[in-house]
Amino acid sequence: MAEDTRENEAAPTATSITSKDGRPKKLPKRMVLGKDGKPCRSCNSFADFTSQKKLITKGAIASGPPSDCPPDVEQLGRSSWTLLHSITATYPTNPSTSEQRNVSQFMGLFSKIYPCWVCAEDFQEFMAKNQVRVESRDAFGKWMCEAHNEVNRKLGKTEFDCSKWEERWRTGWKDGRCD
Ligand SMILES: Cc1cc2nc3c(=O)[nH]c(=O)nc-3n(C[C@H](O)[C@H](O)[C@H](O)COP(=O)(O)OP(=O)(O)OC[C@H]3O[C@@H](n4cnc5c(N)ncnc54)[C@H](O)[C@@H]3O)c2cc1C
Repeated sequence: MAEDTRENEAAPTATSITSKDGRPKKLPKRMVLGKDGKPCRSCNSFADFTSQKKLITKGAIASGPPSDCPPDVEQLGRSSWTLLHSITATYPTNPSTSEQRNVSQFMGLFSKIYPCWVCAEDFQEFMAKNQVRVESRDAFGKWMCEAHNEVNRKLGKTEFDCSKWEERWRTGWKDGRCD
């Protein structure tokens, strides 16, 4: 869940919103609002989102949203990292100038349009301080691993050993379990 609940001109966070009947409705403390001022599905975990809606059983909350529902912050994140690391895995070892330009532009745009806006703001900040490395597959793969570790640290998760990014995302593990 995005811990960051800072104020943003277009999308303020709040501890209450006004419900349809005009009465103020209290929000869970960590709820991040979207640009429309409503609770943001892709910025919150399903558990936090549904504790506001109170519609789902405990078991469903523990396993995240049903597979045919809009993604929460975790499902969106897992799918997005899969795409991003897979792009690094298929990136050329010696990319041309235009291939380098394409991925640089893609990463810049990705960081601007990522659906969890609080995640996107932090990712843009990371990219401003750590320019994307696109000169080779190895450099790009390691940069992406570091970017992912930055989010892992923020969320209190274990850091990934970036010397193993290729085994995880390109070749499969040396023990052969992916073959
Ligand atoms: C750009 C971006 C920013 C995000 N920002 C936030 C945020 O601010 N707040 C928030 O709550 N969530 C954020 N997320 C989502 C968050 O990173 C996780 O995706 C989500 O919490 C689900 O985590 P997970 O434990 O299932 O595994 P994930 O972190 O999604 O990782 C998926 C798999 O990738 C592998 N892996 C883990 N770390 C690395 C690494 N460093 N390099 C290579 N492979 C690795 C592991 O095998 C892991 O199982 C963000 C996601 C993205 C793409």
